Amino acid sequence: MRDVIDRILVSEEEIVKRSSELGKQISDDYRKTNETPLVVALLKGSVPFLAELIKHIDLDIQFDFMDVSSYQGTESIGDIRIDKDLDCSVKGLSILLVEDIVDTGRTLKEVTKLLMNKGAKDVKVVSLLDKPDRRVVEIEADYVGFEIPNEFVVGFGLDYDQKYRNLPYIGVLKPEVYK
Ligand code: 5GP
Ligand code: MG
Ligand code: MG
Repeated sequence: MRDVIDRILVSEEEIVKRSSELGKQISDDYRKTNETPLVVALLKGSVPFLAELIKHIDLDIQFDFMDVSSYQGTESIGDIRIDKDLDCSVKGLSILLVEDIVDTGRTLKEVTKLLMNKGAKDVKVVSLLDKPDRRVVEIEADYVGFEIPNEFVVGFGLDYDQKYRNLPYIGVLKPEVYK
């Protein structure tokens, strides 16, 4: 374990196992409705989770990326800004949005609204992590990997100051690192 990490909340083995369960569940659910989603991953935090998850989605999916920002340091702020838009059109498509973590819920709410405004038929959300205690807007992911307590975490895509995204587990950062 790296010395900036206080403790591991979710191990690599747990993430791999849960991703395969989610992938199977997602495949079953979409198959029932005869839909194949366009998978939209939010950069950069969801990339390791996307890579793990899509191995277990047994459908002919395509994926695309969006980058939005709303989070600075360790505090979330209001509106989002689009830093990189999708390459393809979402008109009439079922979207499966892939997120690293749902915190206040603002990002998800705004991105979902945006995709619906662009003509998406349906938006479902899969998030590796969920911090339900922090929610300020009413929104829930359709699929959640792990519920975690209200602590600032890094690893498996999640950063502090753009670092620690490459850690293979979810860990709590020692407070002295960001104080
Ligand atoms: P929300 O809009 O739900 O408040 O924020 C979602 C975004 O905030 C996530 O995509 C992530 O970038 C960031 N975020 C929220 N909680 C954490 C956390 O504990 N650690 C890290 N590294 N980022 C977080
Ligand atoms: Mg993010
Ligand atoms: Mg970003």
